[in-house]
Amino acid sequence: MRIDLHTHSSASDGTDTPGELVANAAAAGLDVVALTDHDSTRGHAAALAALPAGLTLVTGAELSCRIDGVSMHMLAYLFDPAEPALLSERELVRDDRVPRAQAMIGKLQHLGVPITWQQVARIAGDASVGRPHIATALVELGVVPTVSDAFTEDWLADGGRAHAEKHETDPFEAVRLVKAAGGVTVFAHPAAAKRGRTVPEDVVARLAAAGLDGLEVDHADHDAATRERLRSLAADLGLLVTGSSDYHGSRKDIPLGAETTDPEVYAEIVRRATGAFPVPGTGGPVTA
Ligand code: AMP
Ligand code: ZN
Ligand code: FE
Ligand code: FE
Repeated sequence: MRIDLHTHSSASDGTDTPGELVANAAAAGLDVVALTDHDSTRGHAAALAALPAGLTLVTGAELSCRIDGVSMHMLAYLFDPAEPALLSERELVRDDRVPRAQAMIGKLQHLGVPITWQQVARIAGDASVGRPHIATALVELGVVPTVSDAFTEDWLADGGRAHAEKHETDPFEAVRLVKAAGGVTVFAHPAAAKRGRTVPEDVVARLAAAGLDGLEVDHADHDAATRERLRSLAADLGLLVTGSSDYHGSRKDIPLGAETTDPEVYAEIVRRATGAFPVPGTGGPVTA
């Protein structure tokens, strides 16, 4: 069983449509894929409608959170997408991404970059708009050679010259909301230092005590030593350990299935969830 529990489609900052993503997941030999767009579940319906036989879809989202001024991401799986409290928080964060993107564009213009909202809106389409869309615009304009080169202090990194904050949820609130919606939470890339400041271990311990289910340990942004440290932290705190690609299509160079989750851990996530269930693909039209 090959299980990848963290991917992005064009419903946020990935480049595959949800339908392309599930087709690519099957072609990559995955048995289970989770669709976890930033602050959005809008890609789920199209992914379900296109789900190939032999591939199971886990519905999810990656929630933008912040604690003590440090931004962090919380993966949420198999929650009820219609549960009103989590839905309204998710929409609040997603909708605040628009004025926030406009603020970053304003800062870039002030720095002399001829970027416009129209350009970024064209790149983002109807997605949950984020820095990778702005980074793509900067690549188009020849300001930086690649999307990742836009994530520096000079440009869009946390606290960078053109960075602006968006509304982000307190992670304790996120854990509580996801649980109340029948879902399971996994702290995404908890030690990805290249993304900026990371959350200290005592906060991870407090999140575990508050009901956090797991840590995403096997992630491209963690080196071998970091993975070992996180694995032992997870063991100490009784947290599940997951691995995933954090696939973004062509916006990052990491393929689907680059990292995977142990089938027993996946089974435990499914066992804990009550808000939604994994959907096995039939390869035919979804009628339910
Ligand atoms: P946002 O949610 O708009 O704040 O943008 C954050 C997203 O940007 C992350 O989820 C990643 O997909 C992407 N990102 C963050 N840091 C980097 C980086 N160093 N290189 C490339 N992409 C990054
Ligand atoms: Zn992303
Ligand atoms: Fe993330
Ligand atoms: Fe992600």
